[in-house]
Amino acid sequence: MACSGSSQKRIPPLYLFFELQFTLLQSEYLFMAQPFKRIEHAFINGQWINSKNSLEVLNPATGECLGKIPDLSSLDITQAIDAAEQAFHLWASTTPLARANILLRWETLILENKEALAQLLSMEGGKPIAEARAEIDYGVSFIRWFAEEARRINGEVIPSEAPDKCAMVLKQPIGVVGAITPWNFPHAMITRKCAPALAAGCTLVLKPSELTPFSALALAQLALEAGLPKGVLNIVTGTAEPIGKVLCEDTRVKKISFTGSTQVGKWLMAQSASTLKRLSLELGGNAPLIIFEDAHLDNAVEETLRAKFRNNGQTCVCPNRIFVHQSILPIFTEKLLTRIKTLLVGNPLEENTQLGPLINEKAVEKVERLVQDAIAQGAHCLAGGKRHALNGNYFEPTLLTHAHPSMRICQEEIFGPVATLISFTADEKVLTSANSTPAGLAAYLFTENPARIWHMTENLEYGMVATNTGMVSSVAMPFGGVKFSGFGREGSSHGIEEYLYLKSFSWKIKSY
Ligand code: NAP
Repeated sequence: MACSGSSQKRIPPLYLFFELQFTLLQSEYLFMAQPFKRIEHAFINGQWINSKNSLEVLNPATGECLGKIPDLSSLDITQAIDAAEQAFHLWASTTPLARANILLRWETLILENKEALAQLLSMEGGKPIAEARAEIDYGVSFIRWFAEEARRINGEVIPSEAPDKCAMVLKQPIGVVGAITPWNFPHAMITRKCAPALAAGCTLVLKPSELTPFSALALAQLALEAGLPKGVLNIVTGTAEPIGKVLCEDTRVKKISFTGSTQVGKWLMAQSASTLKRLSLELGGNAPLIIFEDAHLDNAVEETLRAKFRNNGQTCVCPNRIFVHQSILPIFTEKLLTRIKTLLVGNPLEENTQLGPLINEKAVEKVERLVQDAIAQGAHCLAGGKRHALNGNYFEPTLLTHAHPSMRICQEEIFGPVATLISFTADEKVLTSANSTPAGLAAYLFTENPARIWHMTENLEYGMVATNTGMVSSVAMPFGGVKFSGFGREGSSHGIEEYLYLKSFSWKIKSY
């Protein structure tokens, strides 16, 4: 049963942004209400695989065991690489149209099963059901996008330096890809990697988070039904560290595509050194959100709320530090506090729920520790600040004011429902504060001044800057960071390049 922090009733949903973007896709399909069967096997070479050892998957909302997944051995992972290697030559030689058609069938099957997949995602990830549906649409958008891109992997013809030679560039699939994905987007992080890799002609061995493997396995089942040949997509499950080691150290794996924490990204990069792999690292953030004195206040409040509390604050692009101009701080704080008090915390499967549980006890402990530390350092807690009465992994939506950039809560990713307000007065000082972090993923601005927008956008050391909106991500835009937030881009016309290499082709054409 959902419970609320206040008596207010009608609340615009946090997922509205996603929903608006994908209304067209949604309206075209009827959704199955049957739950998607939880597949308790890994998927290697087109076969469902068991193993001696297994790991339990828990529902973060109830603590109930949802099922078990195989804890694969290093030998199993090597066999998955064998399968991907064998499938590569055949898959790479299919026409782009054939690959696009399989991707589009996959998209159709996912949308036909949207409701069941959303429920599965919600149960294993604790994401409110409306947000889970939005994630399915977001995930599917990458499949359609890269199905279209498959047919536009154009090479180049270059004016030759020599009169008797042609000079050309071919774009070729890089080979077997090792992909590792996190729990906070159990569906979309899979498709954001698989769709461009498959479109390019690569094959994959993908390891989803052990916390949320069922969405990935359901996607594999639908890919099989869509006609993806055996060995092209392999899903391996189990303990992360040994799986990562095998993927990084096998010379047949030509690239690692990783989304997750900066610490693990660094380990994977170090482990990949001996085999000189290409890498895409989508790592953690510490997003600043800056509200200037000339911002449209109500818009700034709504967009801050959406950006901050989406997925219960558990996204890499959630604002971690909210800088508010001193002159508007009292009114902004009052308005944000009113809205935070309306947020409905509860069972993620209930339609009205806006905030579910955090992913696990470790996550709750971290948020609790950061909040307590901030309060001890002088922050004021105006709402929340503690575990929710629902117990388990639930945490109250929280508003902290009088925060300072030197506090731990401003230096570490909170990954929880805590809005942390910091006062500022001067543009250049807030710019310096915003950049004073090793992370560089997303930043947000709220202002009506075009000169300020341009100056800030140019000088913020971030891979993505959003102005007057809390929504930074879309399939058409390159997603990725700088500094300790990693490198490589996903989505957009650039995303497929991560899975291709350039081959220079010189051709002497006359007078031997
Ligand atoms: P994480 O601990 O780094 O885990 C991410 C993935 O790496 C999981 O599949 C995990 O497996 C695996 N992993 C963990 N240790 C490993 C090791 N030693 N070797 C190989 N793989 C290993 O991160 P998380 O806590 O799941 O996810 C949250 C982090 O991801 C945050 O920092 C967030 O900002 C970042 N993130 C970034 C983006 C982006 O696009 N930039 C998007 C989403 C999330 P298990 O879960 O099975 O242990």
